[in-house]
Amino acid sequence: MRGATAQVIDALPEPGGQLAALYPEKLIFDVAGFPRVLAKDLVANLRQQAGQFGQPIHCGQRVVGLEEADGVFTLVTETDRFPSRAVIIAAGIGAFAPRKLPQACAEPWYGRGIDPVVRSPQDYAGKHVVIIGGGDSAFDWAHQLEGVARSIRLVHRSDRFRAHQATVDQVLASAAAGRSAVHTFHELADVVAEGDRLVALDLKDIKAKTTTRVPCDVVLPMLGFVSDMGALLDWGLTVEKDEIHVSQTMETGRPGLWAVGDVNTYPGKLKLIATGFAEACIAVNQAVHWVYPDKKVNPGHSSNLAVFGQKDD
Ligand SMILES: Cc1cc2nc3c(=O)[nH]c(=O)nc-3n(C[C@H](O)[C@H](O)[C@H](O)COP(=O)(O)OP(=O)(O)OC[C@H]3O[C@@H](n4cnc5c(N)ncnc54)[C@H](O)[C@@H]3O)c2cc1C
Repeated sequence: MRGATAQVIDALPEPGGQLAALYPEKLIFDVAGFPRVLAKDLVANLRQQAGQFGQPIHCGQRVVGLEEADGVFTLVTETDRFPSRAVIIAAGIGAFAPRKLPQACAEPWYGRGIDPVVRSPQDYAGKHVVIIGGGDSAFDWAHQLEGVARSIRLVHRSDRFRAHQATVDQVLASAAAGRSAVHTFHELADVVAEGDRLVALDLKDIKAKTTTRVPCDVVLPMLGFVSDMGALLDWGLTVEKDEIHVSQTMETGRPGLWAVGDVNTYPGKLKLIATGFAEACIAVNQAVHWVYPDKKVNPGHSSNLAVFGQKDD
């Protein structure tokens, strides 16, 4: 809207922050204009809205450093570098990463049989897939991979699931019909390999204390996410309890860096989606004015902007 280029960088494989990672199936009641909205639907709408402007979103990119030279910041991720004249930190409660399986036997197989992030269902065509977990992601993928994977097993430590009931019912019905398998009260006991290829898993029944060997080409751990602030707070900012102090214009105190959303704090701060939206508007307009001093801080209303083909009243 302001005629500036921008890019979003996020550690998650998909945009959406806490809404996508922690509560996609929960209803939200306090976002203006939506009497009620599922968190995942709000994220989908935000993506669609942002997509109108064609600015790139770089997912799976965890920012590990910030460099500054000749008026240009460079955000450094584990694999890339992103130069920019201004940075808006919207890091929430930190970078999300998939929670790892606690069993030591699993560690050597990450990236060569254990996939922490699922990208395309077609990657699992014709394979024996074991999904570990009892939440939405576990059930969504068990359902989606039916008819694609050679076999699907869902393994969970209890018989209580934290997933949308309709999807749970679909997966349980499929297991009852013999199209997949659900192992409740089971956990990973060992990884079975032939050479350097994962071929099976030993699953332990934690009640009966017995072990079953099941064929497996790929393990998909769906155990939720852990978050970590990492190096982000060491950028010469005023930080207290993982929160960046900002002024009423969302300035961090380091010129060129603003902070919005759950990661910032100021007197009266409310950690809500609605306040995050407002803070982002304030920071963006300040940043645009800082990079282009001839542009106004206050751009006017979207309903009047030429960029949308709207005329001034
Ligand atoms: C269960 C639950 C229910 C909630 N319900 C509501 C509600 O009903 N209404 C409401 O208003 N609010 C609710 N909230 C709060 C709301 O989700 C947060 O206020 C909101 O998500 C904050 O958005 P954010 O963009 O600031 O941070 P986040 O949503 O935390 O997003 C931060 C993003 O930054 C990324 N990131 C962080 N560090 C890095 C790094 N180094 N490199 C790359 N990426 C990084 C993370 O991966 C993440 O995607 C709820 C929260 C929870 C946990």
